[in-house]
Amino acid sequence: QQEHYAQLAPLPAITTDGVKVQLAANIGSADDVKSALTYGCEGVGLFRTEFVFMGKENIPTEEDQYLAYKKAVEKCAGNICVIRTMDIGGDKPLAYLDVPPEDNPFLGWRALRISLTREDLFIPQLKAILRAGVYGKAAIMLPMVISVTEINQVKTLLEKAKNELIAEGKEYSEDVSLGIMVETPAAAVMAPVLAKHVDFFSIGTNDLVQYTLAVDRVNHNVAYLYSHFHPAVLRLIYTTIKAARDHNIWAGMCGEMASDPAAAVLLLGMGIHELSMSAPSIPKVKEKIRKISFEEAKVILEAVLQLETAEEVKEYLKNNL
Ligand code: PEP
Ligand code: MG
Repeated sequence: QQEHYAQLAPLPAITTDGVKVQLAANIGSADDVKSALTYGCEGVGLFRTEFVFMGKENIPTEEDQYLAYKKAVEKCAGNICVIRTMDIGGDKPLAYLDVPPEDNPFLGWRALRISLTREDLFIPQLKAILRAGVYGKAAIMLPMVISVTEINQVKTLLEKAKNELIAEGKEYSEDVSLGIMVETPAAAVMAPVLAKHVDFFSIGTNDLVQYTLAVDRVNHNVAYLYSHFHPAVLRLIYTTIKAARDHNIWAGMCGEMASDPAAAVLLLGMGIHELSMSAPSIPKVKEKIRKISFEEAKVILEAVLQLETAEEVKEYLKNNL
C-alpha cells in the first residue's frame, strides 16, 4: 500500500475523461510543506496561521510572520500557497489575546471578527503575507466570513497595509489574490453575491457542518448527527461551487470532507477545482479520482441529490462506489 501510494505521488489527480482536480495540503507551519510534498501535494490550500500565533508568549511580529510565510510560499515552488488569516477563538484560545469568557465561543468573537477589531494584529499579518508574495504565488484567505461588508473592510485595510509598506520601502506583491472560507451557512447562501467580490472560495466543512446542522463539532454526545453527507450541507456546497463557476473564480475545499474519497466523487461531480487536506490523505483521494470519470461522478451526484437523509447518502455511496 505504502509503495503503491508513493508511486502515485508524482501523478496528477485526473479523471479517466481528463478532468483535473488540484490536490493541496493543509499545514500548520512552513516546515509541514516538505513532508506534504512527498505525498504529492500541489501547493498549500490552507495554512492555518493561528499556529504561528499559538504557543508563544507574545504576538508574533510582522517580521516573524513574514519569514514563516515566505518559507511556505517558496517551498510551494510556483504552486499556490493559501495563507488563512488567524482563526483564533472558538476552539482555539490564545493566552495573550484576552478574549473574555463567552457563553457561545463558536458564535462569538473569533477569527475575522477579532482581526477586524484588532488592526494592531491584522495589519502586520496582511503586510507579512503581501511581502511573502514576492517569493511565489501567495493568497490571502479570510475565515468565518458572513457578508460583503467584511470583505470591503478587509480591502480597505489591505490598501492601508500596502501604503505602509510603500512608506517603509518594503517590497511586496500586487498579485496576492484574496479569497474567503465558505464555512458559515450565510456565506454559502450568499455565494452568488460574494463571488463578485473575491478571487476564490474554499469550503470549510468542519465549521459549515457545525453551523448548518447546529451540531457542536467537538461535542461527543451529538457527534452522531455530525455528517458532511446531510443533504442540507450538500446543497449549500453545491450552491457555493456553482456560484464560483458562474463567476469564473475557483472553488476548493479545505475541511475534513475533502479527505473522504467518496465525498470527493460528489465534489468532482459538482465541479470543484481544488481539494486541500492533511497530506497523508492525498494518495487515497487521488486514487479515487484517477479511477472514475467526470461523467460517472455527475451521474452519482444526480442520484445523491434526490436522497433525503445523510444515512441514505452514505448507503448509496457505499453500494455504488
Ligand atoms: C473548516 O472549518 O472546515 C476549516 C478548514 O477550518 P478549521 O478546521 O481550522 O476551523
Ligand atoms: Mg473553520
